[in-house]
Amino acid sequence: MHPERFESWLTVGTHGLYCRPGGFHIDPHSAVNRAVITHAHSDHARAGHDHVLATRETLALMKARLGSAAKLGTQALGYGETLQVGDVTVRLVPAGHVLGSAQVVIEWRGRRAVISGDYKRSADPTNPPFELVRCDLFVTEATFALPVFTHGDAKGEVAKLLKSLKQFPERAHVVGVYGLGKCQRLIALLREAGYAEPIFLHGALAACCQIYESFGVELGALKPATGAKREELKGAVVLAPPSAIADRWSRRMPDALTAFASGWMRVRARARQRGVELPLVISDHADWRELTRTIHETGAHEVWVTHGREDALLHHIQSTGRHGRALALIGREDEES
Ligand SMILES: [Zn+2]
Ligand SMILES: [Zn+2]
Repeated sequence: MHPERFESWLTVGTHGLYCRPGGFHIDPHSAVNRAVITHAHSDHARAGHDHVLATRETLALMKARLGSAAKLGTQALGYGETLQVGDVTVRLVPAGHVLGSAQVVIEWRGRRAVISGDYKRSADPTNPPFELVRCDLFVTEATFALPVFTHGDAKGEVAKLLKSLKQFPERAHVVGVYGLGKCQRLIALLREAGYAEPIFLHGALAACCQIYESFGVELGALKPATGAKREELKGAVVLAPPSAIADRWSRRMPDALTAFASGWMRVRARARQRGVELPLVISDHADWRELTRTIHETGAHEVWVTHGREDALLHHIQSTGRHGRALALIGREDEES
């Protein structure tokens, strides 16, 4: 192991990324002894690890989604706190992605690596903003790593939804949202925009909302959609997981108008495929400009890329004089984008 050669102490093995001098994996895709978890999305937080280190919020979300966060023990680390793990120090700093999401800052013999997990730079009322940490190695996601991806302002997208509600006061606005992150961000953005009506939830979304509220994120009046009166649902916002917006569940809503909040809604064909009438481009991932800006601002000379679509970003990294590498990690999906 040599501190200058990151690939000698941050290795990619059968379980994923492994920090050798610390003796732990970061977001492993299968069960390991010691895991540090960046956030609770299913492609990062798997079940069955013996020991898990994460933020308190991530541990609570893992417990709710997986039954338990770890088999033998969990350790919570607050943002900004430093912990000695084996021969390295570990610090978690906000990634701005979803509640509890953290970048993992690892230092070993004067070298600093930042594993960002998933992140975004745009404002999100439900979690603290991405914190920039200067480093030697930056490990970045690449979910929307093509120059065509520009997410724009989420507030503008929420305004579109509010306008449609005024225009079609008889129609239930069924909005597809991912259960962890997008759902709560959309609710909070609606509240910020002055929308005070009850918001109706598909049953699958309730648990994560409760955890957000338990950590002090105010979401206003929420009601279960199932069992609500038809009259109440007319002209209401009804949030549902993406899988439910096209099925029988949403056909029970009065004259459902289907919307979907996702970074993928930038791609018109995706919206058409899903039969989405009102696409809302709201993403919890960095777009192309945020990715390239962040890489630049970290000052890292070495940048490793995860999450598919890495070709364009690698080309950008190399053309700006940095050393780039595609990390072939299995099990990273764009499912919750
Ligand atoms: Zn994620
Ligand atoms: Zn991810």
